[in-house]
Amino acid sequence: MMNLAHRFNPNLKSIQAFALKAQKAKVKLNQNENPFDLPLEIKEKVLQKFLNEQWNRYPSPAPFELIKKLSEHHGVDSDRIVICNGSNELIYAIFLALNLKDAPVLIPQPSFYLYGKITKILGGRIIEVFLNDDFSFNVDSIAHAIVDNKPGVVGLCSPNNPGGKSLKFDDVKFLISLSDAIFIIDEAYFEFSSERSAVELLDEFSNLIVIRTMSKAFGLAGIRIGYALTSKEIADEIKKVRLPFTIDRFAELTAIEILNHLDLVKRNVNYIIEQKEWLYNELCKIDEIKVFNTETNFLLVKVDGGEVVDMLLEEGVAVRDMSSYPMMDKIFRVTVGTFEENRYFLNALKKVLTKVKAS
Ligand code: PMP
Repeated sequence: MMNLAHRFNPNLKSIQAFALKAQKAKVKLNQNENPFDLPLEIKEKVLQKFLNEQWNRYPSPAPFELIKKLSEHHGVDSDRIVICNGSNELIYAIFLALNLKDAPVLIPQPSFYLYGKITKILGGRIIEVFLNDDFSFNVDSIAHAIVDNKPGVVGLCSPNNPGGKSLKFDDVKFLISLSDAIFIIDEAYFEFSSERSAVELLDEFSNLIVIRTMSKAFGLAGIRIGYALTSKEIADEIKKVRLPFTIDRFAELTAIEILNHLDLVKRNVNYIIEQKEWLYNELCKIDEIKVFNTETNFLLVKVDGGEVVDMLLEEGVAVRDMSSYPMMDKIFRVTVGTFEENRYFLNALKKVLTKVKAS
């Protein structure tokens, strides 16, 4: 066997490959997915269109039809939009385009793991600012860290995964006005929150990138569409990094079709928000746990003792163990599902807690 260790990027030594414990479960509440699949008639319409495509031909280098549709949807010029194969890939492209070598990158903690992971791979230096105890953002600490550390990049996930809370619109504006760093505002869960979008700030700040995904509110996690709304200058740089043809025609056609059914998206989002309030209230009645409400499609549950996440899986319910995240010891994240799924989870949790108590 050859020793190839020295051939690899040394920054990978502290990096783990992404792994997920339960990809399948009777009740799957571990990936912040939308519980509603597209209705069959919409799927059939997309399939019919896809049947008329030439599968031997490359799609266009960038999905121009979808860009045009998103441009109309957001009122943002087409040349300020970059679409990738999911926002994970987009985050990669953005970070690759930035000057990260030895650069300070400010990331509140806990936050979406990918910003820190890519920063490490690319040799950036992470500046951490911790959330408040209720997982709200500590705006003063973030502001001080921006002024003191002069980061080149500030990555803000709002509403936050996994913290669940949003930055107020005025706070986002205040923070961006402090520095000429590149501000990345990841609004993956925007539709579940009542806060105003940073998209409204795009004309004021040319150093702002707003990230959106179709994996959550739009229910297209399996289709893989994420996009950035930003200044033309930043978009042009990201486009140099973004791989051509990364959006396949099927994904493009599906995304266009869902944008023709915004009423359906709105109905599903409202349902999920109502279910979250119901589930939050039911969980609050359980003495053994502490529940954190959010502005997303998930809740956080803190529970002492026992392997509750594994025991829930034995009961057929997959939730996400967050205990490896800073400040998240003994916490799991549960995605809001349908009423039936939420009720099933609640009963399973009560059963598991009874077992833990008895052991
Ligand atoms: N940003 C945040 C905050 C997320 O939680 C996720 C997925 N869980 C993503 C980005 C990536 O989403 P996708 O690649 O499916 O667009």
